[in-house]
Amino acid sequence: MENKIALVTGAGRGIGRAIALELASKGCAVAVNYAHSENAAAETVKEIISSGGRAAAFKADVSNAAEVKEMFSAVADSMGPVNILVCNAGITKDGLLMRMKDDDWDSVLTTNLKSLFICAREAIRPMLKARWGRIIAISSVNALRGSAGQCNYAAAKAGMLGFVKSLAREVAAKGVTVNAIAPGFIETDMTSVLSEELRRAFVDAIPAARAGTPQDVAHAAAFLASEEASYIQGQVIAVDGGITM
Ligand code: NAP
Repeated sequence: MENKIALVTGAGRGIGRAIALELASKGCAVAVNYAHSENAAAETVKEIISSGGRAAAFKADVSNAAEVKEMFSAVADSMGPVNILVCNAGITKDGLLMRMKDDDWDSVLTTNLKSLFICAREAIRPMLKARWGRIIAISSVNALRGSAGQCNYAAAKAGMLGFVKSLAREVAAKGVTVNAIAPGFIETDMTSVLSEELRRAFVDAIPAARAGTPQDVAHAAAFLASEEASYIQGQVIAVDGGITM
């Protein structure tokens, strides 16, 4: 993947960071997006550069169309047009439906789902022009199975799947692939807030008998980004230790 430019949203921490490092290890120059975690993003960039790779950090709230537009033009100016877009940034605001506030719904839908629309819209034209591109959306197994206390999150993540399949149909004949990854229970800041009891219950239900790591997801993302995955289109790949089989 030498000479490919990858933009990974939310790449300062967690799964996004692992994807950025993995793509860099395959030769991509990586644009490391962050919204709040400036130091973490700088660390990701530092690690890539110290391993001989190319990377730079770009601040943008992915739910804000103007900031995303600015980020894409900054990436294009300093690195080149984005060839690989990984929409990874996401948040949760869990709660039972009867207590869910409008803002809990709006912010989760905007950050997880609208961000995919905004980022993919910026990325798609240069990809079509180059007749090569990869768009990878990080959804969740909860899009497939539902999750009590996550009507907002599961709806957003399921919305990503409809988006992916629709965009895939728009661009499939033009060298651009659009796919989703549905991670299961992955050890990151997002899941570290769960009680030990809940964590154990989740892990007990995983056929692989362990939680996933950010690297597990990163390997799948790097494959989808590769030349070898050029005939994989509009798919959802679960990286979940068997939860959804
Ligand atoms: P995490 O550790 O909580 O990290 C979330 C990332 O999203 C951070 O890098 C954060 O960047 C970024 N982000 C949040 N809001 C943003 C915004 N408005 N603009 C730009 N970046 C923003 O979460 P994670 O576990 O790595 O999750 C990564 C993705 O995988 C998410 O989409 C999540 O829904 C999905 N996922 C996770 C799991 C799991 O078990 N962990 C399972 C299924 C799916 P800043 O810190 O800079 O804001």
